[in-house]
Amino acid sequence: MKANVAAIQEKIEAACLAAGRSLDDVTLVCVSKSVSPETAALVVDSGVTHLAENRMEKLLEKKAALQAKEPIIWHFVGNLQRRKVKSVINEIDYFHALSSLSLAAEIEKRAEKPIKCFVQVNVSGEESKQGVTPDEAAHFVAQVSAYPKIQVVGLMTMAPIDATDSELLDYFSTLRQLRDVIRAAGHAHAPCRELSMGMSRDFEQAIQAGATFIRVGSAFFE
Ligand SMILES: *Cc1c(COP(=O)(O)O)cnc(C)c1O
Repeated sequence: MKANVAAIQEKIEAACLAAGRSLDDVTLVCVSKSVSPETAALVVDSGVTHLAENRMEKLLEKKAALQAKEPIIWHFVGNLQRRKVKSVINEIDYFHALSSLSLAAEIEKRAEKPIKCFVQVNVSGEESKQGVTPDEAAHFVAQVSAYPKIQVVGLMTMAPIDATDSELLDYFSTLRQLRDVIRAAGHAHAPCRELSMGMSRDFEQAIQAGATFIRVGSAFFE
């Protein structure tokens, strides 16, 4: 595990250096959804304190198992069913998949504190992907002001699995431009400073395009 973490961190450093960016501006989130709590504990012991899950049951199981290792910052990525919002939303620090007003309403109803959310944008337009369209994103963020417990900290996207280098840069740069437009609007509920983009196979391109949170799973565990 330590070698994998070191290899990921070296790649992050090189990508930051190449892009003229500060290492402090990129947060490495380990997506631990595919591994046991014991393996996730090894990640935390290697110095990575942000963990992400995409299922309620696994999130609660890992939180319970890793309780002694606080503070861990917990993220939820992927589709969250409305009936599970109640069990998840007060257990996490960041939610990366806000893409409908009905989900926003359910979060508003169940949240006991302000919730840091990323609005998920389907930049590539793939049918299999969640998210608002790039054209809808600014209006969607404005509408979320009706739900005062939701704080839009940034935008999130996933690139297609078969994208080329230049396509990746296009998708990630599009999200960055959208983020810049929404941030410039100066909404009190939507500081929108962050960009959650980049996974194991494309986090270097994401950093090049401005990612501030990268969500890396399999590269930790291979
Ligand atoms: C699984 C997952 C990741 C991590 O993907 P890897 O290819 O394993 O790095 C990142 N983001 C989301 C939303 C995921 O579901």
